[in-house]
Amino acid sequence: MTRADVIVIGGGANGTSTAFHLASRGVKNVLLLERRQLGAGATGKSGSLVRMHYTNEPESRLAFESLKVFRDFRNIVGGDCGFEPIGFLQIVPRGYEAALARNVARQQRLGIATEVVTPGRLNELLPGCRTDDVGAAAWEPQSGFADPNATTFAFAEAARRLGATIETGCEVLRILTERGRVVGVETPRGRVEAPVVVLVPGAWAAPLLAPLGLDFGLVPHRIQITIFRWPAGFTRRHCVVIDAIHQSWFRPEGAATTLIGVELGAGHADPNAFDEGVDPEFVATCRNALAGRLPAMREATMRGGWAGMISMSADGRPIIDQIPSVAGLYCMLGDSGTSFKTSPAIGKCLAEWIVDGKPRTADLTPFRSTRFAEALPWHDEDNYGGQGLTISR
Ligand SMILES: Cc1cc2nc3c(=O)[nH]c(=O)nc-3n(C[C@H](O)[C@H](O)[C@H](O)COP(=O)(O)OP(=O)(O)OC[C@H]3O[C@@H](n4cnc5c(N)ncnc54)[C@H](O)[C@@H]3O)c2cc1C
Repeated sequence: MTRADVIVIGGGANGTSTAFHLASRGVKNVLLLERRQLGAGATGKSGSLVRMHYTNEPESRLAFESLKVFRDFRNIVGGDCGFEPIGFLQIVPRGYEAALARNVARQQRLGIATEVVTPGRLNELLPGCRTDDVGAAAWEPQSGFADPNATTFAFAEAARRLGATIETGCEVLRILTERGRVVGVETPRGRVEAPVVVLVPGAWAAPLLAPLGLDFGLVPHRIQITIFRWPAGFTRRHCVVIDAIHQSWFRPEGAATTLIGVELGAGHADPNAFDEGVDPEFVATCRNALAGRLPAMREATMRGGWAGMISMSADGRPIIDQIPSVAGLYCMLGDSGTSFKTSPAIGKCLAEWIVDGKPRTADLTPFRSTRFAEALPWHDEDNYGGQGLTISR
């Protein structure tokens, strides 16, 4: 293809969702270019928690709009996203009870099914859990987790059915501009012209942004997860949990294992040369965090793990925008370890913006790229003390 109406760069959950939503809104020549394979970035490695609980309304809104898609994926997109609505618990330490209550109230006003639960009720929702260190918890009965690869493949397949072209193994080397507007991209297979380009490259953004004079302070981070086999006697599948006391997040994986990640703090890494395996020290950290909440897991056997690359923005929130200095260039950058669950709504909003002139599903102003230059980075009043964190924030 030498000409497209819209080129999407990146075949993760957000890129494929955008391609699907563009095609379903009638855009004829959508071309998605992925340098490796679908799901090669953060998406393929994602823990893929689908929860509505955030310490701010804009992210909860994107998550809630996305939940509607995950719940009815077969009808809206087609195929199977592997969504399992097994319920979600947000656990916070003492001192944050009031903040949690305010966040839950905010989410309830959006229509999200959520409630504050006492430590007593926690034991019913997460049998065998330690509660003496818990300040409060929030419960979302309709949340859970999905299969990030299946979701991405299904978005791509649906986009294809609607006429989009998905090319894997094709790296975009440069975004081409003329007189301040996008005119196409350059690839090893040649140039493709297009008046609109959507940049969704995950942790690999820098080489495409720098030649355009754009620097949003994005930092690639290596994020790990570990999987533990449940010990003898532990047989009941648990719900999805973010434990702000141990800065961990976990969910079941299959019928008898738990997938867990723990925050390690800032970790710059080269997205083109990182260890895809899990560090031995990280396994021990995860076992401690898991046993700290579910003491029976002290005897859980490690069964595997991996690492993936995310892109942290300077304030830990994604940048979803039409770049003001480059007409025709839209982006979803700085996923900040939290943008799988919101990918259905992010793709929809970007498609609405491109086709209808503005996003309708959600207001994207809080996610604007200029907030850093304006010295107005994001700050949530009702946070749980983990502002610099990634996935468990
Ligand atoms: C271990 C781990 C656990 C996580 N857990 C959760 C979770 O529980 N819940 C949640 O919501 N999020 C979670 N995340 C974050 C989530 O997975 C990401 O935010 C999300 O998948 C980002 O999707 P994306 O499409 O924006 O980017 P990516 O999935 O990173 O996709 C970007 C794609 O662009 C391609 N690309 C880059 N440059 C080019 C180029 N020049 N030309 C062509 N293609 C290019 C890459 O190869 C890649 O496939 C987790 C991430 C990790 C790593």
